[in-house]
Amino acid sequence: MRVVLAVVVAIALGACGRAGEATGSSRPQVAAAFYPLAFVAEEVAGDDADVTNLTPPGTEPHDFELTPRQVGRISEADLLLYLGQRFQPSVEDASAETTGRAVDVLEGLDLATAEAEEEHAPEAEEAEEEGEEEHGEWDPHVWLDPTRFAEVARNVGTHLAVIDPDNADGYRERADDLATRLEDLNSEFEEGLANCERTEIVVSHDAFSYLAREYGLEQVSIAGIDPESEPSPARVAEVADFAAEHGVTTIFFETLVSPAIAETIADEIGVTTEVLDPIEGPPEGTDYFGAMRANLSALQTVLGCS
Ligand SMILES: [Zn+2]
Repeated sequence: MRVVLAVVVAIALGACGRAGEATGSSRPQVAAAFYPLAFVAEEVAGDDADVTNLTPPGTEPHDFELTPRQVGRISEADLLLYLGQRFQPSVEDASAETTGRAVDVLEGLDLATAEAEEEHAPEAEEAEEEGEEEHGEWDPHVWLDPTRFAEVARNVGTHLAVIDPDNADGYRERADDLATRLEDLNSEFEEGLANCERTEIVVSHDAFSYLAREYGLEQVSIAGIDPESEPSPARVAEVADFAAEHGVTTIFFETLVSPAIAETIADEIGVTTEVLDPIEGPPEGTDYFGAMRANLSALQTVLGCS
């Protein structure tokens, strides 16, 4: 079956000359690994390129496995945008197959090390021994820092300009505009979080390190860098103790992962839970900017910022 498909695709490509025409469009085809990259790509592409998000809505993107059909789509793409550091190993591995341009958007950014909080959890070590995928050395969650994400926007503009020089000016203009809006968002966060009664945030997984560092907060995560890794009872107890000691009023949970553990900790120390969205999938009824402003508002309320 796969052989037949490959032949059909090869014939289509041979007949039309370029990948976009195989899908009925003459525009460059951009494959983005997951929502934040698809968002940037769509904003920068405007009407000049077609963007596909490889991670279906409602799917947790960490370790998301591509279908064979998607691997085919990647090999046809003119531009593939993905996150390195084993964020989505199947996309990273498929990036070698593409005949277009494959870009690890983390490259060239000022990255922080992925804090190995799982070291506290014996289960994590066992999992590694069983041969599960390990995350990379650097923290991939750059989209939650608007300043680093502005850099991503400008880089995407540069790559689109290279693959489609006729429309280069439009890509660069839209990339600059998006970067400016992200820099404004950074100012909103700086001002909004400048005077807070508390600075500690307890979150489901280690997505907010950059955000915390940029705005003077301290992040404590229950599950480490991968939202689906099961924290040990010892880790859960440790986080509950930290929250109680620091007068934490709220345990944050996220939309694509079960809130059960956050609720357990909140119940145990008698506090509430609230959403802090790591924006790893498309936010409901809004976009990246809307979700980030909702995050800012939640942080301001929970941390007592004035
Ligand atoms: Zn994450």
